[in-house]
Formats: sequence, C-alpha cells, structure tokens
Amino acid sequence: MFFWRQEISPGRWAAFTDTEAGNLAQHVGDEPASVLRRRLSLEAAIGVGAGSLRFMHQTHSADAVTVERGSDGIISADAMVSADGSVPLAVMVADCVPVVITAGKDFGGASAVVHAGRQGIQAGIVQNTVNVMLSHGARELAAWIGPGICGQCYEVPEELRREVSAVVPAAWGTTRWATPSLDLPGAVLSQLAAAGVRARPVSDDASKLCTLENGSLYSHRRSSASGRFAGLVWTS
Ligand SMILES: [Zn+2]
Repeated sequence: MFFWRQEISPGRWAAFTDTEAGNLAQHVGDEPASVLRRRLSLEAAIGVGAGSLRFMHQTHSADAVTVERGSDGIISADAMVSADGSVPLAVMVADCVPVVITAGKDFGGASAVVHAGRQGIQAGIVQNTVNVMLSHGARELAAWIGPGICGQCYEVPEELRREVSAVVPAAWGTTRWATPSLDLPGAVLSQLAAAGVRARPVSDDASKLCTLENGSLYSHRRSSASGRFAGLVWTS
C-alpha cells in the first residue's frame, strides 16, 4: 500500500502510496464509489478519521492555499498548507513530483503537500508553498521528495527544455537515449534548496523513484489511462 512511510518527527508522519493502494483520483474515469472506498481504506491504514484526508482539485497552477481544520468544499490548488499540521493532507500524482514539507514543532508545526509538475515548477509552486508556510510563522522547514518521472526518462522537445531550464537551470536534462529531457525531481530539489528548505528524496535509488521505470507506481507517460497515487502528511 505504501511506497514509503515514515514518522518524520515525533507524532508527524509522511507517506507515498503505490499501486497496491489503488487509484485515488476521481478525475481519471474510475468508478467514484471504488475511489471513495480506497480513500477510506487509506485513512484507516494511517489512522486518521474517515473522510478527513483533504485532496485538491489540481490544475497545474502555482496556487498554494491554507486549509483550515473542519473546513470542507473543493480546494482548487496545487499545494495545501495546514498552519499547525493538524489537517491530514494528500497530493495526487502520476509522473509529477509529490512533495511533503513540514516545519519544526517549536515554530508552529505547519505541514504542506505540493503537486510539482513541469508547469507548477516553472510558475513557482514550490516557493509559493514555502511563503505560505513562513507566513504562519513556520521555520526549520524540511521536505521529502516522493516518486516522479526521472530526468533520464522525461523526454521533451528541445524548445521546452530550453524554456524550463531558463527558469530553473537544474531542470535541464538528457534522456538515457541522448535526447532532451527535463529533470523535475532535480528542479524541485534546487528550488527547495534555494528557498532554504532541507530536502531529500525518499530513496537513493533513482530508478525505484522513477514512476516510468517502477511498475508499482502510476505513470501517465506509461499509460494515459493511468490512476494516481498520493503523497500524504498527517499527525498521530
Ligand atoms: Zn526514469
């Protein structure tokens, strides 16, 4: 059910699901009741209340929003922040890079999830999320970068590589077969570092972390009918 799951500080958890948890997205043509059932199983597995995990309607924007405890309704955004870390948060991906960010307990204990795809990275979703966290007094930020398509697999036209790496130089990549690519995980890592966030990928094995190479993760490049796995942060 989990690609990776860890208590990242006392009482604070982060995880990334795999295909065993199933598709968690309502927008990919799946049976809505099945998606709901899987989300409930996931909530039971991580020990949060049924229906309490907040998902976003993700639009490849640079919008980061604060989610209040007990609020409901659809959140259109590409990053969510819980000012005190009390709201369990989820981000859905299948090649884009999921990121969990948390703040030190002595600085309010904010948490966040980020949907960092090519467009969001270009538009500044990472920095915007950090800014929202800082506005809540968060300091000592730490980030966990989950599975996404790697720089050796994400082939793009030369023009797009030029355009994105003009904004984020670390995004410049080359595929294993020597064509232009974008290194999204590398771009996210550099943006987090530039924002003063201590960040690390959740695995040292780049192939295991790559959604296109690892069959136990969803990849939109591998199948356009793909489901979505999730990055999660919650408190116990
Ligand atoms: Zn790869």
